[in-house]
Amino acid sequence: MTSEYEMKKDKYDSFGVNLASVRNIWEAKVIKCMNDVLPDYPEFDYCSICIQDVYALSMNQITPKYIQQGTVLLRKEYSDDDFRDIIEVAIEKVIKKPNHP
Ligand SMILES: [Zn+2]
Repeated sequence: MTSEYEMKKDKYDSFGVNLASVRNIWEAKVIKCMNDVLPDYPEFDYCSICIQDVYALSMNQITPKYIQQGTVLLRKEYSDDDFRDIIEVAIEKVIKKPNHP
């Protein structure tokens, strides 16, 4: 039996090299910024659907940048303020129209 993790590992494998560690660098930064910004919205419900929606909506606004682990990024395309703006728009959208009753 193949576990879900093993299957996922296979899916990210190319010629024996695992590519799952090549990440979009903005993922972690958006999550960190969400943790900072969300408490400003007391009306946000913090359910898993809404949190995932805010994350997905925000990530879709950002041009992805994938790097190998250990790579030093020399140029920043986005500032903390850019992330804050993008995330605030996403939060307001989700509060106004949550994907659940
Ligand atoms: Zn919700």
